[in-house]
Amino acid sequence: MTRPPVVPVPDVPVLDVAVVGAGPAGLATAYALTQRGRTVRVLEAAGAVGGRMRTVREHGCLIDTGAEMFPGRAGYPATWRLIGALGLDRDPAAVPNVRDALAVWRDGRARPNAGRPLGLLTGAGLGPRARFDLVRLQARLARLGRLDPDRPERAGIAGGTVAELVRPYHPDLYDHLVHPLAAGFFGWDPERSAAAPFAAHLAASGGSHTWHTYRDGMDTLARTLAERLDVTTDHPVTRVARDGGVVRVESPRGTVTARAVVLAVPAPVATGLYDEPRPAARAFLAECGYTPMLRVSLVMDAPPERGRASFATLVPEAEDPLLNVITLDHRKHPGRAPRGRGLVSLIPAPRGCRELLAVPDDAVAERLIARARRFVPGLRAAPAHVRVHRFRHGLPEATPRALALRGGFADRPVAAVEYAGDWVPLRPCSEGAISSAALAAGRIQTHLSSPAAVDALSRQWR
Ligand SMILES: Cc1cc2nc3c(=O)[nH]c(=O)nc-3n(C[C@H](O)[C@H](O)[C@H](O)COP(=O)(O)OP(=O)(O)OC[C@H]3O[C@@H](n4cnc5c(N)ncnc54)[C@H](O)[C@@H]3O)c2cc1C
Repeated sequence: MTRPPVVPVPDVPVLDVAVVGAGPAGLATAYALTQRGRTVRVLEAAGAVGGRMRTVREHGCLIDTGAEMFPGRAGYPATWRLIGALGLDRDPAAVPNVRDALAVWRDGRARPNAGRPLGLLTGAGLGPRARFDLVRLQARLARLGRLDPDRPERAGIAGGTVAELVRPYHPDLYDHLVHPLAAGFFGWDPERSAAAPFAAHLAASGGSHTWHTYRDGMDTLARTLAERLDVTTDHPVTRVARDGGVVRVESPRGTVTARAVVLAVPAPVATGLYDEPRPAARAFLAECGYTPMLRVSLVMDAPPERGRASFATLVPEAEDPLLNVITLDHRKHPGRAPRGRGLVSLIPAPRGCRELLAVPDDAVAERLIARARRFVPGLRAAPAHVRVHRFRHGLPEATPRALALRGGFADRPVAAVEYAGDWVPLRPCSEGAISSAALAAGRIQTHLSSPAAVDALSRQWR
């Protein structure tokens, strides 16, 4: 077999690290390693950085294709540390709070203040009995001590599903809060997904009143990082293989060699690229599935809502089995759409999403708009522009089986090929990706400091 040509690395005699993937995990890993004096190149398949946290600029709008918001400092500490290091929060208006963040649809109208303490007073779609049970559930989780979202397998509730966790409580809690939340923001089926990562994420993230966004688009962090790094876009990696003392990273664009590699791509993609020899890592990777996600963005000539409205509205399955979340992006931040216009997103429920992935864009938009009109009557007007974003690997699904294997993965010996991504802590959000970056950078640093000793240790585990 002829090998593709080796891509010369300008001004870098030996590349220390190649990072595959310029999403938040890959860029944050590359930044951490560069800060430690390593020579790093990021290789990205797409034409732009950001991964599932990308923003496209069209029709005068900033359209966030995947991630749309993130909680405050206490909820996303790794993200905010990076924001601080890059100076992005020097102007507080650049990272604004999202007001009136979350509502739940119930009995003909959107109930505001969902997912925040005020909702316990106003109801937020829950009756008094269900609210009482929500407090009971929160107290039960608090008794478990600190639920660590980076080590969810250590929680005292490891093993059960989200549905099993909530089943002893008032059914409204499941139907009108937990199910739409798990489906809409995690892409999870609560009957299949593990309770511990769900509970740990919610406990760590805090209420919806802490939500923030980037004024200049959710890709702000990725773009800022990329400006300070060596990033090659349009460079799809097809294979990663160890070759003597180096790692070869192959692509139709040529082969890059480095002393170490970080695969910062979804787990199923990583598995396809690299034949992982460490048994515990291999077993966990094999169990790390992803649920697909799809978002329809609609640019409207006028905001479609009447009066005050929340940014995001959860639609419970009983109200509509296909449509799961409606966001009014112009309410997230006024800069998302030109003054007087509207930007709306429609997100289907995970089960419907699988089917819609195979449907053409205009038919997807038509089906979701037809359903959304019941909740936002202003959507009867024809949109000025429609954009459908599809993510085959939308969000990592934390099944109880994957959770059971995570401890072994976390304790694997370091090696020349490491991983970063939201799937590493089984936390389906950008904080999961960014917190995994610090870990990956530390492991690579250890490997590069003493590769021979580390490799000898690693061989004992094979
Ligand atoms: C619809 C949706 C809504 C979301 N909402 C939120 C939210 O509100 N808040 C939040 O915190 N999180 C949210 N998320 C999750 C968040 O976007 C992800 O957790 C985060 O982007 C994961 O970062 P990552 O770097 O691990 O992976 P990615 O962002 O997927 O980055 C991986 C990168 O690798 C590249 N790549 C893949 N294969 C190759 C290859 N062979 N060669 C080279 N490059 C390759 C990809 O093109 C991509 O750029 C949402 C996700 C989706 C899909």
